[in-house]
Amino acid sequence: MDGFRHVFKFGGASVKDAAGIRNMVKLLKDFQHTQLIIVVSAMAKTTNALEQVLKYWMDGSEERWKEWKDIKHFHLAIVDELFTESAERKRVCDSLEGIWEEMDSILRSKPTQFSKEYDRLVSYGELLSTRIIVHFLQNENLDVIWKDCRQLIVTDSTHRNARIQWEATEAKVKESFDEKSWYITQGFIGANAKGHTTTLGREGSDYTAAALCYVLEYDSVTIWKDVPGIKNGDPKVFKDTVLLHQLSYEEAIELAYYGASVIHPKTIQPLQRKSIPLYVKSFLEPTNRGTVIGSRLELTPHIDCFIRKDKQWWLRVSTRDLAFIAEDQLSLIYKIFYDLGIRINLSTHSAVSSSFCFNGEPQLKLELFDRLELLFDLELIQNVQLYTIRHSREGSREKIEGYLRVLHEQKTKDTFQLVVV
Ligand code: ASP
Ligand code: MG
Repeated sequence: MDGFRHVFKFGGASVKDAAGIRNMVKLLKDFQHTQLIIVVSAMAKTTNALEQVLKYWMDGSEERWKEWKDIKHFHLAIVDELFTESAERKRVCDSLEGIWEEMDSILRSKPTQFSKEYDRLVSYGELLSTRIIVHFLQNENLDVIWKDCRQLIVTDSTHRNARIQWEATEAKVKESFDEKSWYITQGFIGANAKGHTTTLGREGSDYTAAALCYVLEYDSVTIWKDVPGIKNGDPKVFKDTVLLHQLSYEEAIELAYYGASVIHPKTIQPLQRKSIPLYVKSFLEPTNRGTVIGSRLELTPHIDCFIRKDKQWWLRVSTRDLAFIAEDQLSLIYKIFYDLGIRINLSTHSAVSSSFCFNGEPQLKLELFDRLELLFDLELIQNVQLYTIRHSREGSREKIEGYLRVLHEQKTKDTFQLVVV
């Protein structure tokens, strides 16, 4: 053993098929002398598929069975490819039997509350992936133990966006791991004090990895991705993006806050508290250095960073009698957004009106309007885009193109923002 202890997180893209899982094993074999905890997401787009099953089930549609069968076939095809020996394959299939039975009985029952059922059903993606992968790692002579994360990560009962209860989690995690073998567990899922399954929010596996590393005080977290690291903009949206070699926790939090989908926004905080570095690397080129996030790391290269948030709504709220919008009214407005769980991404205020840019939530529009219309005049523009440029400099703004009209722009010391349609 080399004395190092790391947490590795593999996302859905890294384990999207049998070849991906084989590649993961190859990568892990280079770390045989290091203590590892391996956190894995659901394979490929399984979480999206499970959300679809949930939708059908909540709607009472029989379509749920077909959608669920597709998920089953997808996983069983991967098992077939990974395990060529029939006794071995049977052992893996037997170990999945319990999961299929539980899912079957859930889908036969009558659904209750949406968020609660979401967590109960959608969490099976990670249980399936880790079950299959642990067998394969063991088959490849890696000494790995499977852990059920619902017995490790204790959360409150905010279904679909659960908050970790640190003290209880620390107690459970510390008694569950030693350094005699590696461990594999699920990202994204936990359980409340009653043992009901919860989830940490979409893409929450990064956060699980950070939480385990924080509690156990391991040396680092590495997120293995299908991209070379964190870039100064999403290459699917912006031209000529470059790889960031290093950045500070603060910079990473800012980027995540404005909508960069590189890492789950909650991931950074626990790491920062214990100065644990976070690496983002490519599982295709694991020896490349990728990006490191850590304390007091100067953004390198020091360059402008671009973020676009889609599906935003722009709402102008004004008083009916040209009265000033004062603190009492603002606090009311914010409370309404808060109550509905709508995230405001930018706001701006003048004497008699305020405007808000927020994540558009069509299902909540009626309620939002009902409550605000009692007090104010409203003017809504749907489907706007919010651009944020960090470290904007001459010429940065010109890189944003392809819009019709600017609704608002604002600049603070480090950040330039543009709301456009
Ligand atoms: N499987 C979950 C999702 O797709 C969690 C994750 O991938 O981090 O959102
Ligand atoms: Mg994912």
